Amino acid sequence: MKIEFLGTGGAITIPRPLCHCDVCLEARNKGVPFSRMGPSIFVHGPNLLIDTPEDIYHQINRSTISDVKGVIYSHWHPDHVMGRRIIESLSADWIHHPPQNKKIDVYLPEQVDIDFKTFLGSSDHLNFFESQGYANINQLKDGESLFLNNTKIFPFRLAEDYVYAFIIENDNKKVLIATDELNNWKPHKDVIGVDLAILPVGIFEFHPLNGERLLPEDHPVFKEEATFTETLEIVKALNAKHVILTHIEEVNGLSFNEFKELEKKLKSSGINVEFAYDTQLVNV
Ligand SMILES: [Zn+2]
Ligand SMILES: [Zn+2]
Repeated sequence: MKIEFLGTGGAITIPRPLCHCDVCLEARNKGVPFSRMGPSIFVHGPNLLIDTPEDIYHQINRSTISDVKGVIYSHWHPDHVMGRRIIESLSADWIHHPPQNKKIDVYLPEQVDIDFKTFLGSSDHLNFFESQGYANINQLKDGESLFLNNTKIFPFRLAEDYVYAFIIENDNKKVLIATDELNNWKPHKDVIGVDLAILPVGIFEFHPLNGERLLPEDHPVFKEEATFTETLEIVKALNAKHVILTHIEEVNGLSFNEFKELEKKLKSSGINVEFAYDTQLVNV
């Protein structure tokens, strides 16, 4: 199995338009790995695309992807769905008549299917693709797995129970991918010791290198989002062979080089994690 990080940013990507902070200036001048597009991951083998942020067209163009077999969504939030129109570009045949559309399989875990009917018009949009012959929409009941090219994909709900993470498993490897929203989650036995865990980095309450407070103590975001410190507790409990953290927000104000420094600092305290960068490829 090979995992490709198409985008490692969060809801506000890097560089943020019109922002002149040091992180955004560096990203605008130098590009990858300093810049971060919206959250999306591709799993080679099953050829499965997880989430479609606005930047997904550019992400696929610069990627090593040669075929997309399916698209699965982790939750309804805008930063994970607003590039849905990619399905049309991947599928549509506007030359032949009748058209020979590729028909992309779209997989919606149970709650995602429900939420797509309420939020952002996602369900309407996907139904339009189905009516045009661009997509097949597949609902996955909780507890149901999906099999693509000898790989099992099992979506399960996190503690924020409208959000799904995925266990991706083939003959000899097991990978956990959680794209966002780890708040209050405790790893259960099926994911302990996985070969690779990909997790959202969380919100930085303090600057991880100089300890400076970055957000006020009583900020409401702490009720909804896991902090970086809480994420590290999850990492310890998971005991995975390899951990990569992603979904890195512009508002954290941390540069690529600061994350490299943080990797070293954590390593010296016995925590082995890596921070993802756009276009990163990982063999599992
Ligand atoms: Zn997100
Ligand atoms: Zn900025």
